[in-house]
Amino acid sequence: PGATVEIRKNVCTHCAVGCTVTAEVSNGVWIGQEPSFDSPINRGSHCAKGASVRELVHSDRRLKYPLKMVNGEWQRASWDEAISAICDKIMQIRGTSGPDSVYWLGSAKFTNEGAYLFRKLGAFWGTNNTDHQARICHSTTVTGVANTWGYGAMTNSINDMRNAKTLLYVGSNAAEAHPVAMQHMLEGKELNNANMIVVDPRMTRTAAHATDYVRLRPGTDIPFLYGLMWHIVKNGWEDKEFIQSRVYGYDDVLKEIEKWPPDEVERVTGVPGAQVEHIARLFATEKPATLIWCMGQTQHTVGTANVRTSCILLLLTGNVGKPGTGANILRGHDNVQGATDVGLDIVTLPFYYGLKDTAWKHWSRVWQVDYDWFVSRFDSKEIMEAPGIPLTRWFDAVLLPKDQVHQKDNVRAMFVQGHASNSITRIPESLKALAKLDLLVVVDPHPTTWASLSVKAGRKDGTWLLPACTQFEAKGSRVASNRSLQWGEQIVKPSFEAKDDLEIMYLVAQRLGFADKMFKNIKVENNLPEAEDILREMNRGSWSTGYCGQSPERLKLHMANQKDFDLVTLRATSGPAKGDYYGLPWPCWGKPELKHPGTALLYNTNLHVMDGGGTFRARFGVERDGVNLLASGSYSLGSEIQDGYPEFTYGVLKKLGWDHDLAPDELATIQQIGGDKADAVSWSTDLSGGIQRVAMKHGCLPYGNARARMNAFGVPDPIPVHREPIYTPRVDLVAKYPTRQDEVQFRLPNI
Ligand code: SF4
Repeated sequence: PGATVEIRKNVCTHCAVGCTVTAEVSNGVWIGQEPSFDSPINRGSHCAKGASVRELVHSDRRLKYPLKMVNGEWQRASWDEAISAICDKIMQIRGTSGPDSVYWLGSAKFTNEGAYLFRKLGAFWGTNNTDHQARICHSTTVTGVANTWGYGAMTNSINDMRNAKTLLYVGSNAAEAHPVAMQHMLEGKELNNANMIVVDPRMTRTAAHATDYVRLRPGTDIPFLYGLMWHIVKNGWEDKEFIQSRVYGYDDVLKEIEKWPPDEVERVTGVPGAQVEHIARLFATEKPATLIWCMGQTQHTVGTANVRTSCILLLLTGNVGKPGTGANILRGHDNVQGATDVGLDIVTLPFYYGLKDTAWKHWSRVWQVDYDWFVSRFDSKEIMEAPGIPLTRWFDAVLLPKDQVHQKDNVRAMFVQGHASNSITRIPESLKALAKLDLLVVVDPHPTTWASLSVKAGRKDGTWLLPACTQFEAKGSRVASNRSLQWGEQIVKPSFEAKDDLEIMYLVAQRLGFADKMFKNIKVENNLPEAEDILREMNRGSWSTGYCGQSPERLKLHMANQKDFDLVTLRATSGPAKGDYYGLPWPCWGKPELKHPGTALLYNTNLHVMDGGGTFRARFGVERDGVNLLASGSYSLGSEIQDGYPEFTYGVLKKLGWDHDLAPDELATIQQIGGDKADAVSWSTDLSGGIQRVAMKHGCLPYGNARARMNAFGVPDPIPVHREPIYTPRVDLVAKYPTRQDEVQFRLPNI
């Protein structure tokens, strides 16, 4: 009696659609849950997974206090004891085997702040052995789309799919995996009488809604997509104007398309030629058309090539940069996009800067820690600039002879944090590796697969389970599939002895002796680093990707003002910013107070850059001389420089009168680069660092899609159309099919 009910908002953690959860809290107890009626995404609905998120907090399987395994028995421990014992062991391992012998495995279920801090922890510890589940799910997406048009992310938005006239699903079962997103798609289907084409070896629930269902043999996505392109080109359905003005490498694509005539496509994929032609016509002529994919495309040995081919189809038909078009890539965990952006990865520091010394120098500046100190933390400078060990091979790093692991010694300790339960693969090898580890630390709200497999592996000692709080007992930002940052409030205080992930990282850094450096710019109270301050630090360092304008204050305001949107058009009707009210999608340029609306639609050429638009230039193919732009530095402005246009970038600064703000060594760098592409690749990040600093000083940022920003400033674009060698997606898997078809009778069952 008399108890008041407070409403608090967070984001559903069970997939990356980003539905808002409205929690009812009374006397500190989470008593009720509503799907948010104000959210432009869920609009009053949740799927069954989302409806059950409260169980994450209230589950009777919560870890209540720290546990250690002693002689095969779990024993209760205190936090002090746990942190001391774990860190002392870690230091002992470092002493004999070097920093790379400790592997820091994080998670896509961290908040951005958690994922960023975990990567930072790895950097301060002195290793690039820092990975998370995206290695298994969507890393191929990031590489595929980034190498096509620059940003490694979904181009449009969940609710934008309502605008499509044709929806082509290749490797997505949205009806089950992303049910609320599916509602938008079905609405679009009804509103526009849209074509819904589902390509899948299985007849799924999504396929049950299709106007056209295409059953193809598993692993034949590339031939199928090229088969579509064959008909498109033969019938003249390609978007010639778009190709002419926005894309290069077309001649090479044509050569590849020629290899996939209808009979060959039918032989390889099992899809009847007439159906391939029918789908090709729909996708190319009934526009706008969007391509939707998920793990059905990415979890292949040719995942990146699958993604690249999908992008090529979109470019061929001009289905990019407009409402209802684009690559609508549905992520798995709630923060796969964010954890990847903030660099919880083996190949880069936060925001895709790579690992070159120039990247380290950039982050040294942001973190205000001497660059040479970082060098001293690693076994060698070469290792500091080399990718870490991917999650998919962690067991090799434990089991292989030490001279084969390309670091000083084997991995001897795994520190697994952030709901990383599903990140363990290859169980037989993993069990052997688990048995061999000197130390296993699992930090999670629940005893997960890592914890239970450690028992199955027969570990008797040296395993710790530390209780972390759930996402609903902490606050922070996350990035949904559509690049939108959304802020989640703390709904209830941590249960039992569970601690916030940020606090656990602070305690570890403190015991390992570098907390003063690592948290130099971050407020810490009662051992808990302030999530808002961590985001502010990201705002300052993220000019390559555009997390600059999403201050915690703006994100909180957006969450509070969700009701200010027009349900019919799904656009904001009032409030502090224009645009899609689905959080603040990156890139979001400039200082927070510039109120950039975020970019709901990437590559929209109809909007001014400060309203979220930009120019667009894509590549049909890009991998040049084995250079992976993702790994080679800041590929946004950096890619412009890599493309050999440092003078152009410098010319812009000069035109704006900002060149005087460059430091002498930065000016010297630019002059040194000249027009030399090879040099530009290695210098790009450093140069970008100088340019971003100068631009920050002037309150806006010529960064990311650099040309967009340049043109927005009225600078003429001198860049000629590229004609470069193309990277053709690998089809070697397909080459095996004739044999396989002979050996195995493929019988496509009737639906
Ligand atoms: Fe949660 Fe995804 Fe379901 Fe929305 S669609 S309620 S985000 S699981």
